[in-house]
Amino acid sequence: MITFITGPVSCGKTANLLIKYYNMKSRRKEDDIVLITHETIGDMSIKTRLSDKNMKVDYVVSGECDIERDLEKYRYIFVDEIQFFSEKEVLSLLRLSVDRDIYCYGIKTNQYGELFKGAEVLLRYADDIVNCNTQCSRCDSEYANCSEKIVPDDREIDIGHDKYIPVCKKCFLRM
Ligand SMILES: [Zn+2]
Repeated sequence: MITFITGPVSCGKTANLLIKYYNMKSRRKEDDIVLITHETIGDMSIKTRLSDKNMKVDYVVSGECDIERDLEKYRYIFVDEIQFFSEKEVLSLLRLSVDRDIYCYGIKTNQYGELFKGAEVLLRYADDIVNCNTQCSRCDSEYANCSEKIVPDDREIDIGHDKYIPVCKKCFLRM
């Protein structure tokens, strides 16, 4: 089974990931659980605003990785920043998910409201999709589900959580 837990920046996805990952690790033998991310983020640890501690990931996906071969020994796979995974990489995870539980955390759309590739492929096939909202940074809405870039017109900058703010649909579309 593969689950997509998604929402804008600052909605608590990463905190949820770490809580679930640690809870599972404390209940089970540790070597059947793995935490992975993508090399695109440029930093091989996971940060959350709720803690000063950075969590080191167990496995970093890059173009040369054979995900299916390397991860087949695990029963539970936690994936951070799924939006940066390529179609091929997400399809590898989908094949693994036939007899494993995979939890993918990430953002659906960029600052233009366009789907990220990894999110797009996962949305097609995910067995379950969990949407997280947070407070809009521009108004009182409790339903921020878009990410607005604070530095405009620079498509080269990847999602860096300090450069984006969560906004509601109304503020995102400037309605
Ligand atoms: Zn708003």
